[in-house]
Amino acid sequence: MIQSFVTLQERFADLQLLRYEVPEFNLLPLRQKLLVYYLAEAALMGRDILWDQNSNQGLCLRKTLESIYTQYNGPKDDADWQAFVVYLKRVWFANGIHHHYSCLKFEPGFSRKFFIERLQSMDYSQKAIDELVEIVFNPEVMPKRINQADGEDLLLTSSCNYYAEGITQAEAEAFYANLKKEADPERPPMFGLNSRLERADDGTLFENVWRSQGLYGKAIDCICDMLCQARQYAENTRQQAVIDKLVEFYRNGDLKTFDEYAILWVGETAGEIDFTNGFTEVYGDPLGLKASWEGYVNITDHEATRRAKALSDNAQWFEDHSPVDSRFKKKECRGVSAKVISAAILGGDLYPSSAIGINLPNSDWIRAEYGSKSVTIANLTHAYNIAAKGSGMRQEFVIDDATRQLLDKYGDICDNLHTDLHECLGHGSGILLPGVDADALRSYGSTLEEARADLFGLYYIADPKLIELGLLPDKEAYKSQYYSYLMNGLLTQMVRIEEGCQIEEAHMRNRALISRWTLTNYPQAIQIVVAGGKHYVHITDYTLLRKAFGELLAEVQRIKSEGDFEAARQLVEQYGIKLDAKLHHEIRERYQRLNLAPYKGFINPRYELVRNTDGTVIDVSISYDESYDQQMLRYSRQYSTL
Ligand code: ZN
Repeated sequence: MIQSFVTLQERFADLQLLRYEVPEFNLLPLRQKLLVYYLAEAALMGRDILWDQNSNQGLCLRKTLESIYTQYNGPKDDADWQAFVVYLKRVWFANGIHHHYSCLKFEPGFSRKFFIERLQSMDYSQKAIDELVEIVFNPEVMPKRINQADGEDLLLTSSCNYYAEGITQAEAEAFYANLKKEADPERPPMFGLNSRLERADDGTLFENVWRSQGLYGKAIDCICDMLCQARQYAENTRQQAVIDKLVEFYRNGDLKTFDEYAILWVGETAGEIDFTNGFTEVYGDPLGLKASWEGYVNITDHEATRRAKALSDNAQWFEDHSPVDSRFKKKECRGVSAKVISAAILGGDLYPSSAIGINLPNSDWIRAEYGSKSVTIANLTHAYNIAAKGSGMRQEFVIDDATRQLLDKYGDICDNLHTDLHECLGHGSGILLPGVDADALRSYGSTLEEARADLFGLYYIADPKLIELGLLPDKEAYKSQYYSYLMNGLLTQMVRIEEGCQIEEAHMRNRALISRWTLTNYPQAIQIVVAGGKHYVHITDYTLLRKAFGELLAEVQRIKSEGDFEAARQLVEQYGIKLDAKLHHEIRERYQRLNLAPYKGFINPRYELVRNTDGTVIDVSISYDESYDQQMLRYSRQYSTL
């Protein structure tokens, strides 16, 4: 059967949905297809957990909005209805009522009257209606999912659901500082990772743990069922042991078990198919302790993996030659395993908006002792590149034809390579000095960590070693990465931020930090110039830029290794957050004229078991024809676990 594959799908608000293809799937034998199938089911079963983590009202509101959507029978050209549809699609995309990037609550474009009438027609009580109207329409109720403003109480001002209402930042920090005191300082568990912090009747704080029989227990049991199904089709005994340990962790909620699981998982590199399923990244918690739920499944892309392997095989060389002070270097780089993969399914916090590179586990001591697994997700990058081609961005924002040609020629290869360097070497490099707390940089930790990995990539992409390893064609290629990175950090990433707002998200703060630090400290190498009333990045000395990146890398590594909170704060506050209002306005205007969507996300393929007449499973089919709303509604039907 030949299916035409269309990458670009729906476009609304500031979003563009894409499809990604999984070219390896149909080449797998049935046993591996079944492994993918059941792991994918496990990755979808946790969907509701994330919705509840993002907001304690999220699930209830989603059900209401979906009921309105499916039961509406009024005119389709009604302006309120059309605005409502956009609102629901945005809420789906963000897994909640706050923008996935800016974290600000969405403004509904439809009227109160429309909303109330719909609820009345579905027999909602007056009390329920009043509550829902408050959540949707009152800008002062839950205005922001994560607030990171320096000097404010980050918990009282954030509406995410990781801490019970009323718990202050100082209380939570004291609670976790206390837990840490009793832990093995060499091998501390990641305290707080898998629980909601709550207050008992006597006023003391306790963790309500996310586990079977605990908070989110119903969803977790469904995940475990699917993992146990997948286990029958595991490719090897280590993969089985990984699944067993994960199920054990989901059942007992003990972070020591989680560390054992992470160690087993990082050691399993033989399988063609791999997965992540669990409480993973901490970007959604203003204190950076509690992990949002995510799941995904991947299949190795062998050809592209050779590239990443060339880097990881030389990890020690890169560590030894980095510009970082030798006290902060790893003496022995262990097991950085790098793979290029195709995503087979995206779930939880990776859906619909996804990372394109992932490096896990996050535990510092496990990374130091056992290494980490790093992946570059090639089929998502490929979908992005198709979407970017012909978008007009380079025509509008790149300074001249020569630079545009540089980007056209080397852009794709350098983007992939920078992601590889960032994930498989950058995050894995360096050590903390003995006694330094891994969370010492607190709310600045995520930004500094991303900066460290990006700088490692920027420094090394210009190294002749990469040409020697056959990863770059010549000495010119890296310049395209320098230009596009700095153009993004100084100018174009602003298009994603509403006017009047500042930079919030850790990866964006990191890019602004690196770019603006370089602009300020190396004016001989890079300037912002104005031509025809428009601002452009002008690079005059690429060689000097490499030196700048090396210098900043050394400083950022020092800050992390020593846990220098004050230096981290100053760096991020000075370079990573504030936007120049006039420049911001100009960039957004130029961008709006191109009529593009600043954020992209993905529609998953659909997997189905194929049975013969006696019910035996004979195949697993993959299809790409589900629309965005069909998929979201189906997920709500099939995977509503809470
Ligand atoms: Zn990263």
